Amino acid sequence: MKAGQLNISEIFHSIQGESSFAGWPCAFIRLAGCGHGCRSCDTTYADKSGRLLEIEEIIESALAFQAPFVEITGGEPLLQPAVHSLMQQLCDLGQQVLLETGGFLSVAEVDRRVHKIIDIKPPSSGVSLQNNPDNIRLALEASPPHRSTFEFKVVVADREDYDWAKSLLLESGLMDSFTVMMGVAFGELEPRELAEWLLSDRLHARMQLQLHQYIWHPGTRGV
Ligand code: SF4
Repeated sequence: MKAGQLNISEIFHSIQGESSFAGWPCAFIRLAGCGHGCRSCDTTYADKSGRLLEIEEIIESALAFQAPFVEITGGEPLLQPAVHSLMQQLCDLGQQVLLETGGFLSVAEVDRRVHKIIDIKPPSSGVSLQNNPDNIRLALEASPPHRSTFEFKVVVADREDYDWAKSLLLESGLMDSFTVMMGVAFGELEPRELAEWLLSDRLHARMQLQLHQYIWHPGTRGV
């Protein structure tokens, strides 16, 4: 791969489904490749190699959708170093850029203008020991306005995941200063159960459903 190129799985226009931006129209740039092997991964197809595209072509395709947000996702977008140049160029063009990352790599090098949606993987994912502690530290140490560009997301599949996430969130203090989205793994946990746990524990996490899974048939690509 040449400098200035990225391996792209797909570029598409959809509704943002999982974050505090859920519901907004959004241009998505899905980078190919991950290999992290989360058990509940819903984009395993993005693990395969995609098309090599120049950054200019990628930006042109994404901006053609004229969406209010551009999201960089994957796969794991931070595995490709040129993603930083892509994010920087989009920000320089005045775009509101979101990054969705699996949370096992550090976001330290990400352009400070990018809004970072960082996964915290619970035990059912099989990779909870690989959450990168650097990301929580970076968020807690960030000063305004950079501080407001961090957001965390946990998708739980059962009570064990929920209890694990609750302990981590309370011990880290993340819920005191940041948006923490907590959702259910589609088809694995009844949303009502999570809602009742959150209310009973008085947790200041924001409940979400994986919106795209309800709008389109689960497993549909390009949404
Ligand atoms: S980090 Fe994301 S893309 Fe990678 S395996 Fe896990 S869920 Fe799938």
